[in-house]
Amino acid sequence: MSTQTITKVPLLDLKAQYDTIRPEVDAAVKGVMESCHFIGGPEVAALEQEVARYSQTAHAVACASGTDAILLALWTLGIGPGDEVISPAYTFFATAGTIANNGATPVFVDVDPRTYNLDVHLLEKAITPRTKAVVAVSLFGQCCDLPAIKAVCDKHQIYLIEDAAQSIGSEWEGRRSGSMCDFGTFSFFPSKNLGGAGDGGMMVTQNAELAEKARMLCNHGAKPKYYHSLVGTNSRLDALQAAILRVKLRHLDRWSERRAQNAALYNRLFEGSKVGRPHHDTRTRHIYNQYVIRVPNRDALKKHLAEKNIGCEVYYPVPLHVQKCFAHLGYKPGDMPVSEAAALETLALPIYPELTEDMIRHVAQTVRDFVENA
Ligand SMILES: *Cc1c(COP(=O)(O)O)cnc(C)c1O
Repeated sequence: MSTQTITKVPLLDLKAQYDTIRPEVDAAVKGVMESCHFIGGPEVAALEQEVARYSQTAHAVACASGTDAILLALWTLGIGPGDEVISPAYTFFATAGTIANNGATPVFVDVDPRTYNLDVHLLEKAITPRTKAVVAVSLFGQCCDLPAIKAVCDKHQIYLIEDAAQSIGSEWEGRRSGSMCDFGTFSFFPSKNLGGAGDGGMMVTQNAELAEKARMLCNHGAKPKYYHSLVGTNSRLDALQAAILRVKLRHLDRWSERRAQNAALYNRLFEGSKVGRPHHDTRTRHIYNQYVIRVPNRDALKKHLAEKNIGCEVYYPVPLHVQKCFAHLGYKPGDMPVSEAAALETLALPIYPELTEDMIRHVAQTVRDFVENA
């Protein structure tokens, strides 16, 4: 097949993924339907164990979404009004939205210009006597420098949560994402590397007491049923999601390998061009939840790719410190220069495991042609 025959490359193709695992997924769904055990139960318990093992943690607690996982982790740690919690300025909104929803104040820190993860050198300056926690993000599938961040948190006796919504299976020097902090939080949103057929999330921790409290908060603070020592909420994972996620977890390492191979091919194809390639910190296992390039004329390239039926997305166009809902915090444009520049210049290209080599070549050539002739 020549590259000329390719007329369309979506950003993500979940149907192509389903086609590779259809019998397993269908059997899992049927199993839950036959059992009629829809909330919690053996599928959810088994997924919790499997994710805990996969992420090198002692405990895992399933909940309704990746957003709830962060919200409940903060809640479990007792964070609320009067507290400050540090978040990178360049991340998905939920990282800081959950801080605000717990009644605490988000404090933003700029990111590293190469990895887009929290700039550890700026962290200590942002800590005040009110700081209770840091929510560090392992963005685009690459672990942030958790040992260094943890050292700062330990020194100041504050909690560390890793928003690992994009990084399940990523590693820092062999240690898995989610395992190097008080709580790691995963999202099973369909487009994530491990995605369900709907919303879902999970908290992981090494601490049995924290796991126990988180589990209670997910279920109205009840233990046993109808005896409430805490006021919690309803944030649970459906058995259908758990059953499907268990199937997909078995394929996750193979998919992550394919994503890394696809990234390596893009990297070769962009060599010697003006396309800024993603930086891979070799201390990490990068699982490429996104493959994010950097170009000065990003918006024009995005428009061009749309015309050529090539899927792409801007993660994220507006850094959090300048979002309208956080105007009262008093940040202004220019406060987080690295995040602001990234928001103008980054673009995610298709990287999903089922891409063919010809599709990648077609995307890379289209990008190169545009950037070179701009
Ligand atoms: C997807 C995502 C979330 C939220 O997960 P949901 O399951 O969609 O609620 C949080 N943080 C980051 C960095 C994400 O990418």
